[in-house]
Amino acid sequence: MSDSEGRSQTPTPAKSVCPFCGVGCGLTYSEASGKGTGWQAPVNTKGEICPKGAAAFEPVTDDDRLEQPLVRENGHLVTAPWDEALGRIATAFADIVEEHGPDALTFFASSNCTNEENYLFQKLARVLGTNSVDNCARLCHSSTVAAMSERLGAGAMTNTLDDLGEADVFLACGANPAEQHPVIFRSYLLPAIRDGTTLIHVDPRANDTTDAADLHLPVTPGYDIPLLNAMAKVIVDEGLVDEAFCDERVEGLDTLREHLADVDVAANAELAGVDPDALREAARLYGEADRAAAFTGMGMSQHHCGTDNVHALLNLALVTGNVGRRGTGVNPLRGQNNVQGAGDVGALPSVLPGYADVTDGAARAAVAEEWGVEPPAEPGLTEVEATHAAGDAVRGAYVFGENPAITEPNSGRVADALDALDFLVVQDLYVTETAEHADVVLPGSAWAEKGGTVTNTDRQVMRMRPMADPPGDARRDLDIIQSVARRLVGETPARFDHDGPEAVFDELTRVNDLYAGMSYDGIGEGSQRWPFPADADEGVGVLHEDSFATGERTAPLAPVDHVPPADDLGDDELVLTTGRVLQHFNSGALTRRSGTLMKMRGEDVVEIHPEDAAERDIADGDTVEVANGRGSVTVEATVTPRTTRGTVFMTFHYADPLVNSLTGDTLDPVAKIPEYKHSAVRVVPAT
Ligand code: SF4
Repeated sequence: MSDSEGRSQTPTPAKSVCPFCGVGCGLTYSEASGKGTGWQAPVNTKGEICPKGAAAFEPVTDDDRLEQPLVRENGHLVTAPWDEALGRIATAFADIVEEHGPDALTFFASSNCTNEENYLFQKLARVLGTNSVDNCARLCHSSTVAAMSERLGAGAMTNTLDDLGEADVFLACGANPAEQHPVIFRSYLLPAIRDGTTLIHVDPRANDTTDAADLHLPVTPGYDIPLLNAMAKVIVDEGLVDEAFCDERVEGLDTLREHLADVDVAANAELAGVDPDALREAARLYGEADRAAAFTGMGMSQHHCGTDNVHALLNLALVTGNVGRRGTGVNPLRGQNNVQGAGDVGALPSVLPGYADVTDGAARAAVAEEWGVEPPAEPGLTEVEATHAAGDAVRGAYVFGENPAITEPNSGRVADALDALDFLVVQDLYVTETAEHADVVLPGSAWAEKGGTVTNTDRQVMRMRPMADPPGDARRDLDIIQSVARRLVGETPARFDHDGPEAVFDELTRVNDLYAGMSYDGIGEGSQRWPFPADADEGVGVLHEDSFATGERTAPLAPVDHVPPADDLGDDELVLTTGRVLQHFNSGALTRRSGTLMKMRGEDVVEIHPEDAAERDIADGDTVEVANGRGSVTVEATVTPRTTRGTVFMTFHYADPLVNSLTGDTLDPVAKIPEYKHSAVRVVPAT
C-alpha cells in the first residue's frame, strides 16, 4: 500500500530492533502474519520475542497517527504546513531566548528514540546555549547510574547477559524481569535457574518472577536500606566477607564494619517487613556463593533515597567479591529500548556525550572542536526540575517522543506546568496527553520507519532499519530535528545537515569516548559493545576486571542509613506502589493503541491484600476510589494475597485512571529521581 506521494506504508521486512524494552530483541515484519517476528539477533539468538514485539506494528499503522503538523489557533490544534509550524517554533524560541536567556528553554529527549536522534537533539540544546536536556532515564534509573558511576565509574550493567548464567545465585531487587524483560528472563535467567542457580527475589509484590524464586523477601516499599544493611551485617558477622578481594580492590571495609556494628538484624527485618530468618538465609546464600549476580530495577531506584538504595546493594557486591568476574556484578535492567543510549550520547543535563562532566573544560573544548560551538559550563535542569520551573525560570519546552503528562509524578501539577509555558513543542506519533497542551505538534516517525542505532541494557549498540515510510506529511525524526535546528541555530558553525543516521553516528564516535572505534558497517547485523578498545572485536564484556572504570584499582564502600519515605502514612492509609505488566509499556502511547495487547489486559486495577480489603468492606471486583491529597482515581479492585498487607499495586500505563496523579514528586537529592514507589493513599469503596 502506498500513499498519494507514492510512499510505502506496508512494511518491507528488514532486520531492526524492538521499540519496547531495553532487552533489544531483533524484530522484523512477517508478511505472512502481518505481525512482528523475531530474527536471530545478538540478544534473541533464536529469534524469540514477547507479546509486545509481536504487536509492535499495530501502533505504527494506527488510524490515530499524525500525518500533518498541528498549530494552536484560538485554543485549538489545527493542521498547518511544515513551513508555518517550523516558523512558529523559530520565532517563539528566539523571543524566549532574547527575553529570558537560553536557560529558559528545556528539551525532553527520548529514550525510545535512536542514538543519532538523541545526539543531535542534545547538540541542538547545547548549541543554543543550555544544558537543560534530559530524558526519561531521569525517571527510572538515574539513581542507579549516579551510584554506580560514583563508585565504579560506569552507570551500566557490570556484566553481560551471556555470562550471567554462570552465577550460583541471582539476587533480584525491585525488578520483575519475567514481565518487564521477558526475553532476558526466559532465555537467560530461567535456563540457569532450572540448572540450579538460586533466585532470591526482593519485591513487595509476588509476581511472575517470584514464581521462579527459591526465596521471596516481600520488602515494604521504601525499606530496602534496612534490608540490605541487615544482609551486609549477617555477611560481616558470619565471616562471609571476601577478605582477599577487599584487601586488593575495596576501600573502607573497617568503616563499613563500624557502621554495621549497631545494626540489629531482627529489628531491621521487622522494619523492612520481612522474616528475619528468611533475610539471614538470603544473606548466607548470597555471601556463600562463589558467583552471585545482583539485578536491580525501579523498585530500588524510584525512591527519594534511590541513590542510597543502590549504594547499599553495591556494598554487598563489593564485600563479597562479586564484581569483575563472569556471573557476578550489579546489573540494572534498563527500561526503554534506548534508555542506555540516550544517556550515553549526552541527553542528560550534567554530562556531555560519553558522560564527560559539563563542568570539565577540557571535555567541553573537545566537543567544541567538532561542533564549532562550546557547550555551556553550568549543568542544566533535570526533567522534573524543569517541569517544576515551568512558567517561571522555564518558558519554552521541546518534548521529543516522551509523554510527561502521564509519566511524571503528581500529574495534576504537571498539567498546570505544561499550560504555564509560553511555548510548547511536541514531536510524536499521535496527539498524546502531552501534545494536548502544545502550541505546535510535529508528526514524527515510528520505530519501523527509521534507521539508526540503539544501545540495549548490556551495552550492545545495534542497528535499526526502516521498513516503511511515515504516513502523509509525517517525517523521519532525524530530519525533523535537523530542520528545527537549522531554523534555530542560524549562522553557527554547528552542523545539522547530516545525510542520514550513519553520518551522525560517525560524528558521535568522534565525541563519545565510549563509542570511539565503532562503526555503522562494523555493527552490521550484530552489535558492538561499549567500552570498545581497539583490541576487543566486539567490546568489553565484564567490566571492572582488573581496575574499575574510574581508572582506580579500588572502589570505595559507602555506608548508608535508612531514609524514611517522603509520604507519612496515616492510620487508615496504605502504601501505593506502581509498576509495569507484561502487555503494556510505560505511558502506553504505543501499547494502548494495540488491539492485541489491550485484549490481553484492557483495564487497570488496584491489587489489594485480602485483609486490607476486608477491613474496608471491599470485595474482589468492586469499584474503589484510591485517593490522597494529590489526586484521586476510580478503579476495580483485585483482591489478592500476592500484594503484601499494607501495600496496594497499580500500573502507570493509562491516562484513565491516571495513577501518577497520586504519586509524589519529592526528589532524590543526588539523582533528582522522584519518589514513585511509596505514596500514601486511602482506598475506599466508590460511592
Ligand atoms: Fe521487545 Fe523487550 Fe519483548 Fe524483546 S523482550 S520483544 S525487546 S518488549
